[in-house]
Amino acid sequence: MTARFTGRTVLVTGGGTGIGRAVALAFAREGARVVVAGRREEPLKETVVLIEAEGGQATAATADVTRPEDVRALVALTVETYGGLDVAVNNVGTAVPPAKVADIAEDDWHTVLSVNLTGTWLSMKHEIDHMRTHGGGAIVNIASNLGAHLRKEGLGAYATSKAAVSALTRSAARDHIADGVRINAVSPGPVDTPMSTRPGESPADKAERMRRDVPAGRAGSPEEVAAAVLHLASDEAAYTVGTELVLDGGVTA
Ligand code: NAP
Repeated sequence: MTARFTGRTVLVTGGGTGIGRAVALAFAREGARVVVAGRREEPLKETVVLIEAEGGQATAATADVTRPEDVRALVALTVETYGGLDVAVNNVGTAVPPAKVADIAEDDWHTVLSVNLTGTWLSMKHEIDHMRTHGGGAIVNIASNLGAHLRKEGLGAYATSKAAVSALTRSAARDHIADGVRINAVSPGPVDTPMSTRPGESPADKAERMRRDVPAGRAGSPEEVAAAVLHLASDEAAYTVGTELVLDGGVTA
């Protein structure tokens, strides 16, 4: 495969673990300089070591995407380090213990909305602000099939936050395509990371649940999500604006 991102700078939020790490590695393998961001330094450094071990270039930056000053500084650091920002993947997300709507704890509600929705908005706000005055760019938000596409009992807070990410993605795409900033989303179904494991569930129980609930019979891999993200961020998707690529093994087919 040709290197689609040679000479480009990519910011991946939540790049220390799971899907974000796979996305960061995939961009680096295709020639990008990558900044990975999250709250904890250790997992970010591990991602950088993995990228450097393959001959790639990466930097770790600690930031909490719910804090406006952190996000502003993160974009500034990316631009200072590599001279620009061409692609951003807003992958940070969190889940809280399942609860019916009337039983959701106030703190849990605010946490999920603040990290998943406000964090995505704040990230886009600063990324777009740079891109629109520096030749444009591409943004991919990680939403979920649980939101705009599917609801399940006990996941009201998470589903609401992710449906809002889908809506925000489309609004931002319309608002900023004329600025040269192309914005899309990827909405995974269950992906093989701890986030898709239920409390107390064994790997065998999880595999059985996937066989039962997912037409494809398994969870997706972080690398499969990364492949979709790279496509949407690449020039081959130049006419793809405000769309959402649902990757869920057929759950919402
Ligand atoms: P994950 O490993 O828990 O990744 C979440 C990342 O976000 C972590 O690296 C975490 O690092 C970072 N993060 C959390 N809160 C943050 C904050 N306030 N500021 C900065 N960074 C923060 O889970 P994942 O499965 O890879 O999920 C990645 C994305 O995919 C999420 O948006 C998730 O909702 C979405 N998704 C996942 C699945 C699935 O089945 N796994 C399905 C659909 C959608 P720190 O804790 O160090 O900050």
